[in-house]
Amino acid sequence: VEIYPGFAATEVLYNDEGAVIGVATGDMGIEKNGEPGPNYTRGMELLGKYVLIGEGVRGSLAKQLIAKFDLQKDREPQKFGIGIKELWQVKPENHRPGLVQHSFGWPLGMKTGGGSFLYHLEDNLVAVGFVVHLNYKNPYLYPFEEFQRFKTHPAIRTTFEGGKRLSYGARAITEGGYQSVPKLSFPGGALIGCSAGLVNVPRIKGSHNAVLSGMLAAEKIAAAITAGRSHDEIVEIENEWRKGDIGKDLKRVRNVKPLWSKFGTALGVALGGFDMWTNTLFGFSVFGTLKHGKTDAESLEPASQHKPIAYPKPDGVLTFDRLSSVFLSNTNHEEDQPVHLQVKDMNLQKSSEHDIYAGPSTRYCPAGVYEWVEKDGKDVFVINAQNCVHCKTCDIKDPNQNINWVPPQGGEGPVYPNM
Ligand code: SF4
Repeated sequence: VEIYPGFAATEVLYNDEGAVIGVATGDMGIEKNGEPGPNYTRGMELLGKYVLIGEGVRGSLAKQLIAKFDLQKDREPQKFGIGIKELWQVKPENHRPGLVQHSFGWPLGMKTGGGSFLYHLEDNLVAVGFVVHLNYKNPYLYPFEEFQRFKTHPAIRTTFEGGKRLSYGARAITEGGYQSVPKLSFPGGALIGCSAGLVNVPRIKGSHNAVLSGMLAAEKIAAAITAGRSHDEIVEIENEWRKGDIGKDLKRVRNVKPLWSKFGTALGVALGGFDMWTNTLFGFSVFGTLKHGKTDAESLEPASQHKPIAYPKPDGVLTFDRLSSVFLSNTNHEEDQPVHLQVKDMNLQKSSEHDIYAGPSTRYCPAGVYEWVEKDGKDVFVINAQNCVHCKTCDIKDPNQNINWVPPQGGEGPVYPNM
């Protein structure tokens, strides 16, 4: 096994027949103007008989492969949430090792999906986080502020009194489940893990299915290589995952997310719970398999249909602002490089994202990367790319799909040693 830390795969390599044969790492030392600088180093090609793509949620190569091979055809759109998390060192008297708390609802209204997790770890550490489903409609919703407000709940705030916040991070989560998993195999490789979207949403876990998908792919590829095959499509991966442990796990819970989205938190979660029981006990659902319908980008509604939300100011003790939070993510990017958040059409960003949707990127980004600022009488879209914590929310939630996240150079980004 060779591991290449500090190199991001930025390109998929194909053979003349169009099958995937490898990936290339990005060039290093390209300056902001796109020209090679004094530290320029060409990327490397990494070739293999088969290539497995396990880039996590909304991977930039997986996105290209899903489009190129039409892997989402006849599937429901993938759905996502944004999870924001902090790690705290709390006072010993507030620490209850092993305690796990989950909630949904507050401070979100009953029509917006999401909820919290709070885990008491060892050494007086507590991990606390909040997930907002990215199919929210109100462009004024501010996931970071919802999380900060969540910590002020009387049942939660006492845990953190006298404690110290140590780390901060954010990441999108796949939520589409069984009906949204794209076709996994393509000529020359397969999608695995969160690139395939194998998270079990009601159980808030995906690592088990990520491991299982890697094992399934490895078994099938080992058999194919033993049989002298290479660079063809291992359809066995696609044909077998639904019958195996991953398929059974996801199928039982497939209607929870669509029911929650359709009926809101109170009724939707109750119906989802009922549906999980009928699936678990009797192996069937009265709902069949429900659809998700729209993508998360399409779910956003014009600002004119909503009212701005007033969020309380941070107190700097329990609640914080975004910039001091980003500092704790240890995110780091060389400033003299092309911006890795590519806006395809700046005019569209102004006429739609700003004028119609009131700039939701300034709120959904958990790192404060995007700002609309007035300059010489014009609204200018500012991208503070060095703050990016690589959560991928902008790539998912921009209402026009006008923002494309690509890997910055090397292994730059957040550093989460203890998250
Ligand atoms: S710029 Fe995009 S990927 Fe980076 S932190 Fe903000 S929303 Fe996440």
